[in-house]
Amino acid sequence: MMIDQDTPASGRLTIDLNALVGNWQAVGASATPAETAAVVKANAYGLGIEPVGRALWAAGCRTFFVAVPAEGAKLRDTLPEADIYVLAGLLPGSAAFLESRRLRPVLGSMAEIAEWLETRSSTGSSCALHVDTGMNRLGLTVDEALTLSQQTDVVEALSPSLIISHLVISEEQDNALNATQRDRFARVRSAFPHIKASLANSAGVFLGSNYHFDMVRPGIATYGATPGPGVPVPMKPVVTAEAQVILVREGRPGETVGYGALASLSRSSRIAILGVGYADGYHRRADLGPGQPRVFIRGQSAPLLGRISMDLTAIDVTDIPAVQRGDWAELFGPNIPVDEVAGYSRTVGYELLTGLGRRYSRHYIGLPAD
Ligand SMILES: *Cc1c(COP(=O)(O)O)cnc(C)c1O
Repeated sequence: MMIDQDTPASGRLTIDLNALVGNWQAVGASATPAETAAVVKANAYGLGIEPVGRALWAAGCRTFFVAVPAEGAKLRDTLPEADIYVLAGLLPGSAAFLESRRLRPVLGSMAEIAEWLETRSSTGSSCALHVDTGMNRLGLTVDEALTLSQQTDVVEALSPSLIISHLVISEEQDNALNATQRDRFARVRSAFPHIKASLANSAGVFLGSNYHFDMVRPGIATYGATPGPGVPVPMKPVVTAEAQVILVREGRPGETVGYGALASLSRSSRIAILGVGYADGYHRRADLGPGQPRVFIRGQSAPLLGRISMDLTAIDVTDIPAVQRGDWAELFGPNIPVDEVAGYSRTVGYELLTGLGRRYSRHYIGLPAD
């Protein structure tokens, strides 16, 4: 379900494609002369793979990473000429699907390599190799990769266009594991000297030029959130998430608000009810803090009141008398950083963005969306 512009919606997302492109370019400027690719998995971190893909392509991005084949197919319809890599690699039996959309699997095991060589067509679509340097998730072990590099006929048959690895803890700049992974990757890379290499995600770019190799793969920084507390990634906010005030009511001292009677009123209060809740990805955990969860409305912060419900959230607007039915409250955006809300929700900006529900109407500003 996508909400079209004519359907009334009590939640809306405004996505600033100009800020998005600016963030992507700023990361890229830190990585020159390496190529800057874009990671657009999970519907471009919840923001819409089609408009995001088009905006980045128009800004000069030519290489894109998605997680799964369906995302790649959607992006292919939008960007007929892009290089699109599928990070999940070769799902069993998926070679024909990938080839028909010219998607490149990032092969992550000897089993995937064997199946790819067996089942892809003779025209030989391109692929990438994933090497595990510490995550223990996807990728050949370093030893497997080094052994493979000796099998020149296999390497030739594969002709990978890229070799990647993924950093485990790049958001901690001083963690020794970063250099360990880089050194392992450099070893593998020198065994495949003619193949482009890519290691850095957003935080990895800021570890310095010896992490850049030939291509960097920022995701989260492009979308205006930080990879982790303390990472110096000064990005512009891209998404503004807002909820509409459905009604304003009066509450008396001693009454409670919402499920579980979690909030009791200590004074005569004005309560505004917002039409967004946890089903929209506004996490129910947030109502317990840490910190005082808030929204931004009529130029001021208003605290949340009681439990976040599935579809509704109450806020205290006693001190903001101008608030009325139909107003919009910012959940996060220019006045409330997405990372602040991630903090109340005891998660990270990544989960908050990718969890934005399907009931928001979406508005793209800053650049033509098509
Ligand atoms: C998600 C992902 C990225 C992007 O990471 P960010 O922290 O969002 O910049 C890069 N590479 C791989 C393999 C990924 O899975």
